[in-house]
Formats: sequence, C-alpha cells, structure tokens
Amino acid sequence: MTVLVKGAGVAGLATALALARRGVSVEVVERRADIGLGASHWAGGMLAPYCEREAAEEIVLTLGLYAADWWDEAVPGLAQRRGTLVLANARDHADLKRFASRTRGHLWVGEKEIAELEPALAGRFGTGLFFAEEAHLDPRKALRGLYDAARGAGASFRFGEEAGDAGDYATVIDCRGPQAIGEIEGLRGVRGEMLYLETADITLSRPVRLLHPRHPLYIVPRGNGRFMLGATMIETEDDGPITARSMMELLNTAYALHPAFAEARIIETGTGIRPAFPDNVPRLIETSEGMAVAGMHRHGFLLAPALARQAADRLTTIEAPERRSA
Ligand SMILES: Cc1cc2nc3c(=O)[nH]c(=O)nc-3n(C[C@H](O)[C@H](O)[C@H](O)COP(=O)(O)OP(=O)(O)OC[C@H]3O[C@@H](n4cnc5c(N)ncnc54)[C@H](O)[C@@H]3O)c2cc1C
Repeated sequence: MTVLVKGAGVAGLATALALARRGVSVEVVERRADIGLGASHWAGGMLAPYCEREAAEEIVLTLGLYAADWWDEAVPGLAQRRGTLVLANARDHADLKRFASRTRGHLWVGEKEIAELEPALAGRFGTGLFFAEEAHLDPRKALRGLYDAARGAGASFRFGEEAGDAGDYATVIDCRGPQAIGEIEGLRGVRGEMLYLETADITLSRPVRLLHPRHPLYIVPRGNGRFMLGATMIETEDDGPITARSMMELLNTAYALHPAFAEARIIETGTGIRPAFPDNVPRLIETSEGMAVAGMHRHGFLLAPALARQAADRLTTIEAPERRSA
C-alpha cells in the first residue's frame, strides 16, 4: 500500500523523506516539472526560531529548536550555524528594545562586537542583538538535498501532473501549500516579495535583520557575492510580480544597512504566497482523504522537520482509515 504525497515543496519533501525512512511506500506527485518551484523557491532559508518568536506563538520556537539538527542529518553540511544579527538605526532603538523584550536566546552587542561579527558593518550600528544559536541554509540546495535523500530512502516521484484523489493509495498527505487555500478551512495567503542582489563590495557571514517601524528587512548571504533580500508581508493571494513600491522599500532598507548595496545588481525578483492559518501556526490536520501538512506561513524550512515527523508518527502509529481496508 502506497501513500500519496501531493506536492514537492519543503513540506511534501520532508514528509516523503520521514515516511520513506520508516519503511512506508511513498509516491510524491508534483504538478510542476520539478521540485520546489512553489512558495519554497522564494524562501530566505532562515532557521530562526528565537527571532520568529517575536511575532509567532511559543510552539513555533519549541518545534523550531530541533530544525537545524534535523537539516544537518537530512542534508549534511548545508545548514550554517552562524547565528542571526538584529540591528536598528539609532532612531529606531525602541524597536530593538521591543524585539529584545519579545524574544530570548540573544545577547546585546555593541559597536565592537558588531564589527567582529560582521566587519563590513563596522561603525554603522551602535547596538544590536545577536542570536548565536540560529542557523540558515540555501533553500534551493536544501530542496534538492531532500529530494535526493527521499529518493535514496525509497520514495518515488511523478512530475508534471495534478495529484488526483486517493484512488488506490493507502492514504493521502496534502502538501499543496498555497494551492490548498479555499479547500482547507481558514487557510489564507500572505504575499512575500523578495529579490536577489549580487555585489562583490560587501560580505556578510550570517542573516542580518534590520528593524524598521514600517519596512523591516532581512538579508541572507548566499555566498559568491549573492544576497537574498526579503521580504514583504502582504495580506493577499495575488502572486503577481514584485511591485515598484515593494522593490523601492526593500532596496531603501538595504541601502540603509550598507550603501554598498546601491551598486549591487538585481539578479532575480520573486513573489511567493505563504499559506497561513489565522494564528499563523503550521499544523497537521485531518482531511477527508487522510491528512494535510498545511499553513507553513513564514516557517516552512523551520517547521517542516517537526511536522514531517508528526505526520510519520501519526501514519505509523494509528490504524489506516476504514475505507482503505474495504
Ligand atoms: C519571501 C519568502 C521568504 C521566506 N523565508 C522563509 C525563511 O527564511 N524560513 C522559513 O522557514 N520559511 C520561509 N518562508 C516560508 C516558506 O517558504 C513556506 O512556508 C514554505 O515554502 C511552504 O512550503 P509548502 O511545501 O507548504 O508549499 P510550496 O513550496 O508552495 O509547495 C507546494 C507544492 O505543491 C505543488 N502542488 C500544488 N497543487 C498540486 C496538485 N494539485 N498536485 C500536485 N502538486 C501540487 C506545488 O506545485 C508546489 O510545488 C518564506 C516564504 C517567502 C514567500
């Protein structure tokens, strides 16, 4: 009996890997021609449970603490454990204090420590917060690594077709991400626009978040002079190209972080729709066909490991639905 996983984004791939490793026969059906071309394609790849707690529920921190170890094991060598640096301009110091009061796992750092952590930012910021336990990864490499690991563990894949109903499958795990909006109760879309910059004029070693009352921003270094710059949070399911306004806001904030970004080349722009429940907490839910790993919101890479494990636990410890044995 084979389990159908619908969708090969980070949720579907992590779930397929978790199931295959427990000896479950899994087939992943992906409507696009390749893995990870949905919301997962546009992610920053931050594994930042402490920082995310600023705006997320405690469960996101609790489950997210286990993510970097999981990624280390699933895709060895990919996650970089260099922490996160959170900064604000002097006039926005109140935002930094508020961020500190809503999070834990950080140290206050001054100009000297900031310069040691990120020499390119020396002299630009007087205070910041350093979250030493956080990590980041390149999402596109992570998805490829998950795919290889899942196939290596025995999962099979079909591309270029819409996953249908349960048919002869033992059960279905719906990992369609934003495509499930309208079908899973409460699920909505939160638009995230991002861009890639390329410049040899500045080097960063870790994700840097710049707090701002209107346009908070983060920059994630990808190596080879490339930086992922994100991301807007707009309550809409419109996945059209990045707007001029969003691009101006993102670029202005990058320039405020360091003027060298003014000369960077914009090499890619994109928009992803984050699927989210009203409380923004990802979860495993029961569906008429089986279950769904849904509502990953800002936490797809952070929480796919925990939800994949929950899905595998549920599937391997409870009885199959009656109709399967009929
Ligand atoms: C700009 C941006 C930055 C982000 N940064 C981070 C970050 O730093 N850290 C983090 O943890 N998260 C981040 N996220 C969130 C993360 O990207 C999402 O939570 C995650 O990608 C959602 O994964 P998913 O697998 O549920 O959906 P998707 O990646 O969209 O995957 C769903 C897949 O299902 C396929 N599909 C849909 N319908 C069907 C069908 N009928 N049949 C077959 N296949 C189907 C789609 O083609 C797609 O491949 C970010 C998101 C955005 C937009």
